Amino acid sequence: MTVKTRFAPSPTGHLHIGGARTALFSWLHAKQHQGHFVLRIEDTDRERSMQEYVDAILEGMAWLGLDHDEGPFYQTQRFDRYQAVIDQLLAEGKAYRCYCSKARLEALRETQMRDKQKPRYDGHCRDLTEPPNENPPVIRFRNPLSGQVQVNDLIRGTVVFDNRELDDLIIARSDGTPTYNLTVVVDDADMGITHVIRGDDHLNNTPRQINILEAMGYQAPAYAHVPMILGADGKRLSKRHGAVSVLQYRDEGYLPDALLNYLVRLGWAHGDQEVFSREEMRDLFKIEEVNRAASTFNPDKLLWLNQHYLKNADSSYVARHLQWHMARLGVDVSQGPPLSEVVVALRERSKTLVEMAVGARFFYENFAEYEPKAARKNLTAEAGPVLQALAAHLEEVAHWDAETIHRVVEGLAETRELKLGKVAQPLRVAVSGTSVSPPIDVTLALLGKATTLDRLQRAIAFIERGE
Ligand code: GLU
Repeated sequence: MTVKTRFAPSPTGHLHIGGARTALFSWLHAKQHQGHFVLRIEDTDRERSMQEYVDAILEGMAWLGLDHDEGPFYQTQRFDRYQAVIDQLLAEGKAYRCYCSKARLEALRETQMRDKQKPRYDGHCRDLTEPPNENPPVIRFRNPLSGQVQVNDLIRGTVVFDNRELDDLIIARSDGTPTYNLTVVVDDADMGITHVIRGDDHLNNTPRQINILEAMGYQAPAYAHVPMILGADGKRLSKRHGAVSVLQYRDEGYLPDALLNYLVRLGWAHGDQEVFSREEMRDLFKIEEVNRAASTFNPDKLLWLNQHYLKNADSSYVARHLQWHMARLGVDVSQGPPLSEVVVALRERSKTLVEMAVGARFFYENFAEYEPKAARKNLTAEAGPVLQALAAHLEEVAHWDAETIHRVVEGLAETRELKLGKVAQPLRVAVSGTSVSPPIDVTLALLGKATTLDRLQRAIAFIERGE
């Protein structure tokens, strides 16, 4: 049997951290069993579903690298199939038409509330032979009246529900459209899903879904309900806690591998290991080991991991993601040093790709102006002759590499009896416009000779103008 898992978001909002973790767990479970990961867009709520969110979900999944083997399927394209199942359930007496008016249902609810009972449908239309009124009917599932449903959850263990607690669920609205519990069940069955891994907010739907599956003649899949994620205040993670959408983390300069690494540790551990490559995650993760308790989101740890990946990941991987941020700043990186070398120069000092992109900018385009404070301190009348001498010496350099440049800068400081900083710092401001950059020899080597000399002339002219 091929293991098949699915991620089934409703496009009524962005792909958020909780959804991404559920998707990751499903993806890992499929991949580690050489199975298939299915992406299904549950877009039947036409009022709240938006194309914008569908796009954001697909973009977020692609950015995370959680590739699907099947799909994306769209539930709105499967209405005929849902209708066929509803018709069959009706024909077999496993579902029935309910003509109860809103007023009757409300009155029923009020009585039950007053009597401190759980509000539930009382089965009024269960055994009708004729329509009792002209109301357009809804279709209800004929839930068993007795017995129990056992959910053998891979995370929560066995959870038992009494059928008397479950009422006859509406599976089609009066306009004929199918409801969530019906569409999920039909899809999970048709798509051959073997493991349903989803948020534990769906646990209460599971016994109902198992009953419908059985009525359809299918065996229920295995279930794993993943506990929720809380903010530091113990409340369910939401916008109030800062970024929650996956694409927002991309925009703020996180690497997808750092985010995935953070998410896999949220509710799961392997000894005290903190850093997991994708391969390690795939080999070591076990859905059965996911913690039953909710986990708390810790943005500092995520930032720490991001820094770790910026420093240690393959530089071409970092460069690929940095390029996206450079493009976002409108910087063309096709001319100039290879971006992966700029990554190596900047990786020790950047916490995010946004910071790295800002630091990388001057390698690819001339800056508009000097940072005022840096210029005041370093592009002084006293620095003018130093920069002129540097320009003359650097002009002579035939092999433009960090080592040679280092010797020139150091040599000049020695002959002029200046501290190295008195030479390096004006030079840094001259070429980068700021007082922070990677080591000056590395910076110049990356910038190239022509650009370095141009920027030196610009700084010399700036000093001469005495601005
Ligand atoms: N579409 C549902 C949701 O976004 C998930 C359904 C499921 O995983 O069964 O909450």
